[in-house]
Amino acid sequence: MKNRSVKRIKKIALERIEILFDEAKKIAKEDKKLSKKYVERLLLIARHYKVRLPKDIKNYICKKCKNVLIPGFNATVRVTHKGYVAIKCECGEEKHIFLKQKSKNK
Ligand SMILES: [Zn+2]
Repeated sequence: MKNRSVKRIKKIALERIEILFDEAKKIAKEDKKLSKKYVERLLLIARHYKVRLPKDIKNYICKKCKNVLIPGFNATVRVTHKGYVAIKCECGEEKHIFLKQKSKNK
């Protein structure tokens, strides 16, 4: 019974995270501060409810400055030959997104 409600709470938390991320993305070009606030809030929710961020959200949030990374706006995307895409934030932080994730069976 307890497990079930945890699952439900996590689902709701994830929905809120997705909404916040959407909003952060929408507002990023107009109001960076507000955008970061949304990101901070969604990270808080994730931490509080122990929800793992979906890859397409996690990959587009700068760990360092909490920017939503928008290629061509505040981030540059570079495809490397080593099997990953490098997304560089305007703050200098670089994220590596590995394309081949099949072999990661830990
Ligand atoms: Zn950054």
